[in-house]
Amino acid sequence: MLSRLLTAGKLSIKMKLILTLTLILLSGLIISNFINYKAAQNSVRENLVYGVLPLTRDNIYTEIQTDLIRPIFLSSLMANDTFLKDWAISGENDSAKITNYLKAIKDKYNFFSTFFVSEKTKKYYHFSGVKKIISKNNSHDEWYYKFINSGLEYELDVDTNEAEKNTLTIFINHRTLDYKKNLLGVTGVGLKMDKITELLKSYKDKFGCVVYLVDTDGIVQAHPNEKLSEQADIHKLKGIKDIAETILSSKSDATMYDFKRNSEHILLTVRYIPEFNWFLFVEIDENSKMGNITKNIALNLLFGIILSFVVIAICIFVVNHFQSRLEHMAVTDELTGANNRREFDIQFRKSVYNYNRNGTPFSLIIFDIDHFKSINDTMGHITGDASIKTIATIARSGMRLTDVLVRWGGDEFIILTHGDEDSALFAAERIRKQVETSDFFTKHYERGEIKCEITISCGVSGFRKGDTLDSILARADAALYRAKTEGRNRIYRG
Ligand code: GH3
Ligand code: MG
Repeated sequence: MLSRLLTAGKLSIKMKLILTLTLILLSGLIISNFINYKAAQNSVRENLVYGVLPLTRDNIYTEIQTDLIRPIFLSSLMANDTFLKDWAISGENDSAKITNYLKAIKDKYNFFSTFFVSEKTKKYYHFSGVKKIISKNNSHDEWYYKFINSGLEYELDVDTNEAEKNTLTIFINHRTLDYKKNLLGVTGVGLKMDKITELLKSYKDKFGCVVYLVDTDGIVQAHPNEKLSEQADIHKLKGIKDIAETILSSKSDATMYDFKRNSEHILLTVRYIPEFNWFLFVEIDENSKMGNITKNIALNLLFGIILSFVVIAICIFVVNHFQSRLEHMAVTDELTGANNRREFDIQFRKSVYNYNRNGTPFSLIIFDIDHFKSINDTMGHITGDASIKTIATIARSGMRLTDVLVRWGGDEFIILTHGDEDSALFAAERIRKQVETSDFFTKHYERGEIKCEITISCGVSGFRKGDTLDSILARADAALYRAKTEGRNRIYRG
């Protein structure tokens, strides 16, 4: 649009200059800020991809492992405890024995829950007693059948704890076998999810990273947002669902991914934790880390725009200043400040137009300094110049503001006066008299003083119907010639 305007040729050079300058300054500003923004974005991304994300991932991996390895180890000890095996093999007599055993472990290691489920009787032994008989038909007991069919030695499972007011719990379920490797049941411990959730939350608060755990089916097992734990499936979560399968099929190395979620650009790193058969997800919104940079770039841009406008305003001011000076010089005589012939032509055409349209009269007074050559010769050229200037000043004071004083050449001037010939004669007389009585220069010599007396001769002519510049000038000139030949310092009309 701007470039079309520039090439369309409908704009003044001044406008072109200002538009080009605006274009250069603004595009320079935008390009440099864009480059800065991209550079900052790359450095933020590098910092996240090679610093914050892997560090957080590996730190939290170690922390979670430390928190969960001990319960896994203890549930393994329970599963291999000869007391538990013998008690189960010998017919599960005296349930107080097993509940005391479970309570002792719970208290000693400060677990949230300890349990044993018998394969034979399907009784769910809890540290506080026999809670229930599990059944295939109860959806809450599904975990048991799923686990014994999985063939796994142990598993971690996040579930609501029916025995403890449905508190969200991480269960570590461990297979218990008799001495002939036949299944006796499942024992294990339960940990409150709160601790893990708090740990995940602390990473969000400290580093702005969202850390969560996902099982191999893609179900979120632990999340700082508790509502998502044990419910969300990454196959259905916005943005991540497109890469869910790729993530879950890669267990070997920690991997980096990125995807878009609404206005966020998420950088994600995933590490598989073999001990839990879970994936550790650490994600961060790149845009959230760009906040300050975007603010700085916006400030930079704003400052740059203000500066550009100041530069453009200064340019406009300088261009205007020189333009008006040039315009003034183009129509003005340098020595006297009177108008030159070019301006006279314009003013004359205007006056003819007004005369023809409204009958507004105007006249020309042409005057010439008498014996100016001798002034130059006796007083010097500089003094001669000064006298020409003084006469221009006198002439200006004797005419109306709307009249136009023109230096016609050398010591000759024309006044274009808005009035008829009589009023022009009157004005010419006023000026002639003032020149005559003016004390131009008085030089003091040993034998007295010499006064420089200057006079002018004038020819006056009013504009008549059908006149041209040449015809009215010819009449005024003839009148001036007459004034010169008849003794000077006088006025004639022509
Ligand atoms: P006349 O009464 O017949 O007009 O006599 P004059 O001596 O004034 O003769 P004329 O008007 O022909 O001469 C004008 C002289 O003015 C000629 C020139 O040397 C002088 N002159 C023209 N322009 C300038 C100027 O800008 N400065 C000075 N100092 N002298 C100028
Ligand atoms: Mg003269």
